[in-house]
Amino acid sequence: MRHRIAVAGGGPGGLTFARVLHRHGYPVTVLERDPAPDSRPPGGTLDLHEGLGQLALDKAGLRAEFEALSRPEGQAMRILDAAGTVLRDWRPSPDERANPEIDRGQLRDLLLDSLDVRWGHEVAQVVPGTEDGVLVRFADGRQETFDLVVGADGAWSRVRPAVSPVTPHYTGVTSVETSLDDIDTRHPDLARLVGDGSVAAYGVNRSIVAQRNSGGHVKVYAKFRAPLDWHADLDLADVEATRSGLLALFDGWAAPVLDLLGHGAAFTHRPFYVLPESHTWAHVRKVTLLGDAAHLMPPLGAGANLAMLDGAELAESIAANPDNVDEAVRAFEEQMWARAGRWAKITTAGLERLVSPDPAEALALFDHVQPS
Ligand SMILES: Cc1cc2nc3c(=O)[nH]c(=O)nc-3n(C[C@H](O)[C@H](O)[C@H](O)COP(=O)(O)OP(=O)(O)OC[C@H]3O[C@@H](n4cnc5c(N)ncnc54)[C@H](O)[C@@H]3O)c2cc1C
Repeated sequence: MRHRIAVAGGGPGGLTFARVLHRHGYPVTVLERDPAPDSRPPGGTLDLHEGLGQLALDKAGLRAEFEALSRPEGQAMRILDAAGTVLRDWRPSPDERANPEIDRGQLRDLLLDSLDVRWGHEVAQVVPGTEDGVLVRFADGRQETFDLVVGADGAWSRVRPAVSPVTPHYTGVTSVETSLDDIDTRHPDLARLVGDGSVAAYGVNRSIVAQRNSGGHVKVYAKFRAPLDWHADLDLADVEATRSGLLALFDGWAAPVLDLLGHGAAFTHRPFYVLPESHTWAHVRKVTLLGDAAHLMPPLGAGANLAMLDGAELAESIAANPDNVDEAVRAFEEQMWARAGRWAKITTAGLERLVSPDPAEALALFDHVQPS
């Protein structure tokens, strides 16, 4: 019998799952809330690590395509203090491939190729244990039944309540994001500061990070410790008011670093939420989670990598044991929980140090990087 398998969420985790299972000859229905692939900006660049995201792409048969698109030079890293002193300035050697960067949109297009994605399908609720399988209720009132539903629908997963009552909590660190276009022609000084990869400046409980994407596009993140309602007196839709508010938060920082916040045309507020470090659940037949839905953690360069490897491994586990999908899912869950637990500890400790009352804590994290 052919299994009716659905994955909620067409992010890196859901698409890798669908792609790898598809490669093994099993059809998967991707249920994605977005109305179309280009309905919102795809987000910034991702570094894909050897042994995590890159391994998942191997399993997806996309290694050559990744190498053609990714930017090894994007691994370059410059570290500053709040006074603008360059403390580390690292450029990868030409054959360095540990963490090349790829734009999120490029990665999505690679994974999307040949998949059956149902756009505009927002999952509202998943009800396991019905006679015919797992019932998926959509936000528009439609419903459909599957033999396995995988929740890869991110931080605020609507599948998660079917297996776990846990919800994400705020870390105390928030981020405001802006971006610069055509940086090389419009802001050559900033282009030099950012270099081929990223620049990060660390101060007391704060940092400013800028990261080059392809095509001269740069994302800038102001990160700081603050209560969730820090912007109660600020209209975040008012670009100039937000800019002034941010510049006040970074008062006294070196002008070239602050200039990174001086030109963006919009600001997006992204508080960092996480799930508990050791989030697991009592196995529920025919429903599981992967990626951020299962183990949301601080965004320190691991989440997409883990989501992709989860997706690839769940697909391989099912393909290896198609007559006992439940057993395949259980085996996958044990493996995912162990790996995610290790990474949650690493990224939680990393966030504590990167946005710390003592900037030396953050700077010490880069001790292994060559001095300038
Ligand atoms: C600023 C920033 C930078 C980051 N940089 C990196 C990095 O360099 N490397 C790295 O590994 N990680 C990085 N991360 C983390 C990474 O973005 C996430 O961990 C990763 O995207 C998780 O993938 P996912 O597929 O689990 O979920 P998501 O990427 O969140 O995808 C979920 C998908 O589900 C869809 N969806 C949501 N709700 C529903 C619903 N109800 N029904 C149907 N569809 C739904 C969404 O539209 C989306 O397409 C970063 C995160 C941030 C915020």
